[in-house]
Amino acid sequence: MKIVIVGGVAAGASAATKARRVNEEAEIVILEKGPYVSFANCGLPYYVGGEIQKRESLILVSPELFKKRFNIDVRINHEVTDIDPQGKTVTVKAAGETVKETYDKLILAPGSEPIIPPLPGVDLPQVHAVFTVPDVEKITENIQEGLKSAVIVGGGFIGLETAEALLKRGLVTTLVEKMPQLIPNFDPEFSLPLESHLKDMGLRICLGNSLQAILGDGKVEEVILEDGTRIKTEMVILAIGAKPRLDLARKAGLAVGTAGGVVADATMLTSDPDIYAAGDIVESVHLVSGKKVRIPLAGSANKQGRIAGANAAGGKLLFKGVMGSAIIKVGELTAARTGLSEKEARELGMNCYVSYTPSHDHATYYPEARRMIIKIVVEEHTGRVLGAQGVGWKGVDKRIDALAVAVYANLSVLDLEHLDLPYAPPFASAKDPAIMAGMVAANILRGDVRHVTPAQLKEMLEKEEVTVVDVRTPAENEKGSVKGALNLPLDELRQRYRELDSRKKIVLYCGVGYRSYVAYRFLKQKGYDVYNLSGGYSGYMMSMQ
Ligand code: FAD
Repeated sequence: MKIVIVGGVAAGASAATKARRVNEEAEIVILEKGPYVSFANCGLPYYVGGEIQKRESLILVSPELFKKRFNIDVRINHEVTDIDPQGKTVTVKAAGETVKETYDKLILAPGSEPIIPPLPGVDLPQVHAVFTVPDVEKITENIQEGLKSAVIVGGGFIGLETAEALLKRGLVTTLVEKMPQLIPNFDPEFSLPLESHLKDMGLRICLGNSLQAILGDGKVEEVILEDGTRIKTEMVILAIGAKPRLDLARKAGLAVGTAGGVVADATMLTSDPDIYAAGDIVESVHLVSGKKVRIPLAGSANKQGRIAGANAAGGKLLFKGVMGSAIIKVGELTAARTGLSEKEARELGMNCYVSYTPSHDHATYYPEARRMIIKIVVEEHTGRVLGAQGVGWKGVDKRIDALAVAVYANLSVLDLEHLDLPYAPPFASAKDPAIMAGMVAANILRGDVRHVTPAQLKEMLEKEEVTVVDVRTPAENEKGSVKGALNLPLDELRQRYRELDSRKKIVLYCGVGYRSYVAYRFLKQKGYDVYNLSGGYSGYMMSMQ
């Protein structure tokens, strides 16, 4: 049995080592067109920023170690240019020669390639992608040569991570993003805390604008944006996305699906009985929507590679699907998501509501507690958790981890209330932020509280049909409040509630939504038409800045 693997990084390397663990007798060959296998593409921005200091740290397993430990034949600088599925051979180009390699089972894991727009100036030597070890070596060489400024095009994960890296290296850095928000795979309000933190770190941000041309005589000197803005710069980083490398799959006649990826079944087998595929090139089932999607991330690439490797070698493993769980560190902030965002759920026509819950990462009486905001997307009537997003300074990762398990397991917000998560003051609160988010959403589901989101409040205010009441203390109110809101502190409400017009809708808010919930329950029982502002003033500020 001979297993040939095309591409030797996330999916390819996982496939090879798993195949070996399943089958000691198989001949296993990795053909990799680049100079490295098993390198840490996710670590590349941190090499630019200097957190990862040695280039060798990015290389996880060398060809020699693959041979010694796993008896896997790794051939770097070997590009597969064609597949003959009938003859079961691949054509390989290496060192100017072209040879054929036979296979019994083929695993395709060639990943993606960065999108380079066909714009004037993209060929200039200081224009880079952040995709391979040679890419980041060129960027660091440019920095060592003394370049002092950069424009990053693209405000997704790679663009933001690289922006932070270049700021750390002291470059005057401008980020240009075509969409009106950063991290476009999150709901828009999650962009705002990141924008403000990145601006504090010195990043210049141009949203809703795109690159039109890069100017320079033999070297980068200036960029021109769609609206005519000109920015002087010495380097340009293109981080506008990646496209799957489908050329080989197409040449082999493999089925490509509606989501733009190679079609593979749960065993990762393609439409050809001897060709498996894994990683960025395949499309998968979204575990929440049931739709086919292509979400190119390292976690699924590694899992799919492992499954393809096992099955090609004679095993039987199944891949279930993806949920789009992702996380990013931006300066000291973390943003993370799992499942569907509100935008995605609504585009799919799913009946859902959302709730925002600000809470601290650990007990506030223990030093250095910091606030985070969790937004959960909940299916109407059933309460199923469709997705969650969080942003904050600390502990966002473990809450979105917990909520990812809830989404995977089809739990409802009524289950979240009962999660038994570990607690001690340095780590959490007795009601953990994930549990708290569940309680708030469960209160809505049960009808214990009617809520409005900041976006809904904005709409209501435009129609001027509502009294907004801030139930915080006057001192808190003075520091900032919703325009036109009355200040009626919770502790005075029992004496003063008759001041409120019972014929009007009343939206209550406090700092995070808890005191206003107490006020809500009181006023509701007094017959008032009340709503609680989801996420309180914190959520409002996050959404309205
Ligand atoms: P890759 O890991 O890209 O490997 C494909 C390999 O195939 C490449 O080495 C390529 O040279 C080789 N190849 C291509 N064509 C051929 C051919 N014809 N013949 C031979 N070899 C070929 N994901 C996360 O989940 N979290 C992160 O933090 C994260 N950060 C990232 C940061 C950066 C800068 C980048 C670029 C990606 C990041 N990703 C992250 C995405 C993640 O790295 C990819 O989803 C994952 O590596 C895809 O795995 P893959 O095996 O499909 O492709």
